[in-house]
Amino acid sequence: MNWETVIGLEVHAELSTKSKIFCGCSTSYGSGPNTHVCPVCSGMPGALPVLNRSVLEYAMKLGIALNCNITKNSKFDRKNYFYPDIPNAYQISQLYAPICRDGYLEIEVDGSKKKIGIRQIHMEEDAGKLVHTANESQMDYNRCGIPLLEIVSNPDFCNAAEVIAYLEKLRETLLYLDICDCKMQEGSIRADINLSVRKPGSELGVRTETKNMNSFKAIVRAIEYERERQIETLEDGGQITQETRRWDDEKGTSYGMRSKENAQDYRYFPDPDLPPILIDDKWLLDIKESLPELAYQKRERYIKDFGITLISAAVLTVHKNISDLFEAVALKSGQPTETANLITGEIMRLMNNANILPEDLKWGQSTLCPDKLSTLITLVTSGKINRSAYKETVEEVFTNNTDPEKYITEKGLMMVSDDNAVIEAIKTVLAENQDSVTDYKNGKEKVFGFLMGQVMKKLGKGGNPELVKIKMEQMLKV
Ligand code: ADP
Ligand code: MG
Ligand code: ZN
Repeated sequence: MNWETVIGLEVHAELSTKSKIFCGCSTSYGSGPNTHVCPVCSGMPGALPVLNRSVLEYAMKLGIALNCNITKNSKFDRKNYFYPDIPNAYQISQLYAPICRDGYLEIEVDGSKKKIGIRQIHMEEDAGKLVHTANESQMDYNRCGIPLLEIVSNPDFCNAAEVIAYLEKLRETLLYLDICDCKMQEGSIRADINLSVRKPGSELGVRTETKNMNSFKAIVRAIEYERERQIETLEDGGQITQETRRWDDEKGTSYGMRSKENAQDYRYFPDPDLPPILIDDKWLLDIKESLPELAYQKRERYIKDFGITLISAAVLTVHKNISDLFEAVALKSGQPTETANLITGEIMRLMNNANILPEDLKWGQSTLCPDKLSTLITLVTSGKINRSAYKETVEEVFTNNTDPEKYITEKGLMMVSDDNAVIEAIKTVLAENQDSVTDYKNGKEKVFGFLMGQVMKKLGKGGNPELVKIKMEQMLKV
């Protein structure tokens, strides 16, 4: 039977501000338990929260990038629940007047474009971490008060491919805005999947929410699993319970954790400790103007202004580190196409071999240096070094940050463009290979390549293949 899948996403992105959302505690990761806590984020009576201005500005930036309306009079609400991960017994979040509403993000799957509606984006504080041992449970409140943005989509997705396209673009946007490091394994971006199935054209079915996937691959598997489970249940005459399910990646299954609470269960009410947030036009405009160029805008510009292919443009914008390096080298060398080829080819290959991810690529004056790469591009395009010497030197610069010109001189990689040296080498080779010369003259043109190879060998790494070819053709004619 024919079933349609309907999916809506709730994505939590941890913001990369230095301090927490309502106090001055550090957000840094990996310190001992309860080392980044104060009376505010550990819920001491009488301690008052004060909103971190950066959190608000990050939220505005994301809202603008995702085509949302920014709420000029936004408020915080308390979401009440009792559990030891939240010392106040409520989480400060936004329900009635979230900071951003009614946006969209455009995705592309198999060449067709689709707009996914963003219902709202709201700010909230993260909860603490519980560590359970055999005999006791321990609380670590370092994460309490870490700022989060929750991005809630409309139920506009029909399949896993659309979900992944959306998450990739959202991730790219967060990275280019420089507001979240998007490390999925570390939980700095997490997606909850709301999924239901229905017969084409009928009303929305009952949905479940699946949590706890920490890779795109797990998300795809969780979607497929849940879709099958719901269809099977319904076809067997059963009903879907609205519930929260937990994905178990090892087993490849999910299980029900709790029946899904509704907003009224949380007794949301406006937080009396935090004043409304008023945003005037001037502030909004300043934020709009401060927005950096986003990845998709860069792609369009690379294609239009530099004549770079869509595929290369996509590779160059996988991460800001890569596009920044590309732009620095292209500007310096004045040769965008050659720069694109260098980065998408040799540099990516070397990164791959060294297990360096784009987010971990370091470049600048003391590491992979745009000036050095630009020098190399100029040397190869002006015919001072050949392609194999270029490749070798790029690797040397990448690995040891060597000065390219010094390396080329020391290794004798400068191209031999001295006519006499080339002619001498050809003479020797022709004399040593009389048989091949005869073959060639009798029409066996394939031996030309062999003879070229011999001459290049004699000339060493600096051989100029163009020049050798021209001279040898001339000399073989006589
Ligand atoms: P709650 O208040 O319980 O969190 P929301 O109305 O906020 O529920 O919706 C949460 C997410 O679930 C949204 O991303 C929304 O698009 C999605 N959603 C809502 N109804 C359905 C449905 N029937 N099928 C699939 N997704 C849905
Ligand atoms: Mg919700
Ligand atoms: Zn604190």
